[in-house]
Amino acid sequence: MIQRAVYPGSFDPITNGHIYIAERAASIFDELVVGVLENRSKTCTFNIDERQAMNREALSHLPNVRVKSFEGLLVDFMRAEQCRVIIRGLRALSDFEYEFQLALMNRQLAPEIETFFIVTDAKYSYLSSRSIKEVFHFGGSIQDMVPPGVYRRLRERFPPKTIKGPQ
Ligand code: ADP
Repeated sequence: MIQRAVYPGSFDPITNGHIYIAERAASIFDELVVGVLENRSKTCTFNIDERQAMNREALSHLPNVRVKSFEGLLVDFMRAEQCRVIIRGLRALSDFEYEFQLALMNRQLAPEIETFFIVTDAKYSYLSSRSIKEVFHFGGSIQDMVPPGVYRRLRERFPPKTIKGPQ
């Protein structure tokens, strides 16, 4: 039997921290489905097609990884994918409370589904999609934190401000 897992998230955009989790999960499971959440009530910086394209590019070195979008309940997506394992990444203790609640809610909705947590590498423990966008916005260097395709798209979306000299 094929052991399949789903790694769900917003990935707005995917960072090296997400890639690390996907690599570790892909080395354990036969197949990993990266589920990109299309949440119409949450405004994302990148639309669903852009986020899927960035994920596909960033994970193309992993032959057993598929990227798919989903809407609505994760447990419905899991059932449609015939998958019983959810992968989530853990950074600091602060992630734990939210992730714990989410895991228990999903268990309530679908008792057959199990959530597996993968601990991040220390060097990614401070990385989040939101923080990289903030740092980039204020001109900080994020090249080591995201894959090249994401860096390029961030630069296209938010071109560096032209610094005006004295008139
Ligand atoms: P959410 O959809 O909950 O806002 P994200 O889409 O940013 O979360 O991330 C999806 C999953 O990846 C979550 O389990 C999150 O904890 C994990 N994750 C995000 N950034 C990192 C990181 N730097 N290291 C490890 N895991 C991470």
